[in-house]
Amino acid sequence: MSIPMERITSDDQLNEAGFYWRETEGVRALVCAPLEADGFVNGFSTRLGGVSEMPASALSLAGFNDDAAENILENRRRFLKLFQGEWILAGCWQVHSADVRVIHTAEDARPAENQRGETVFCDVIVSNASGVLAGVKTADCVPILLGDPVTGAFAAVHAGWRGTLATAAIIAVKRLAEEYEVRPQDLRVAIGASAGACCYEVGSDVIDEFTSRFVDGPKLFTPTRPGHALVDLLQANRDQLVSAGVNPERIHTAPICTMCRTDLFFSYRKEKSLHGKVGRLMAVVGRQ
Ligand SMILES: [Zn+2]
Repeated sequence: MSIPMERITSDDQLNEAGFYWRETEGVRALVCAPLEADGFVNGFSTRLGGVSEMPASALSLAGFNDDAAENILENRRRFLKLFQGEWILAGCWQVHSADVRVIHTAEDARPAENQRGETVFCDVIVSNASGVLAGVKTADCVPILLGDPVTGAFAAVHAGWRGTLATAAIIAVKRLAEEYEVRPQDLRVAIGASAGACCYEVGSDVIDEFTSRFVDGPKLFTPTRPGHALVDLLQANRDQLVSAGVNPERIHTAPICTMCRTDLFFSYRKEKSLHGKVGRLMAVVGRQ
């Protein structure tokens, strides 16, 4: 069943979906309550409360080519204040793949001195180290956070259409099982705001890739004009997670579209052509 996307999502609808807003000093993030109750600090950032001029007071958390490093680092400092305790933020240089970074210890995750951006090329991070916040950056792509209350292992996944095609979510579940003996049915999953099936139009290249690769690929598309269709990447990722053994009742999806709600989120597709540069959201998960 597809979750209806609406231009305005009420807080009640968000709560029903398992999410609530956390706000500190103007910085706001969506938190998945069931994932938190299972022992995992987590949050999906918004554009609110930062220092980037995108256009103003924007909380852009990555993209060193589009913004000054001191702005991004200040925004990260503000974002991390939403979460109590000391954290090492661990990300990756995202390449729309299904490659995995495994973080064994907090020391593994500590960036080298003077290191600005990320140095590991991948789109999935798995870990069971305490004090580490695994983070993926998005602006329309699907951010997926996973946590296993039994083993304490967790993962962050960045899945745009290429990552979805590469089954990044399934690979995250498999890697958690291999590294930490996670049973998929124990996992709790939170899927954050992304470009929804209301707005995300793709061309025949994307449609062809999905329909040739997946038997149920066609059901992800709603035709618009010739050679184009709206794609439901949330549905695609939920289906993949369920096929990997995740209990559908333990998958929580924030019913907000980044393209509809550029007042709250960065949208590459809406803003790239307007401003030339786009801020980056971040989704993080970890445990103390
Ligand atoms: Zn939309």
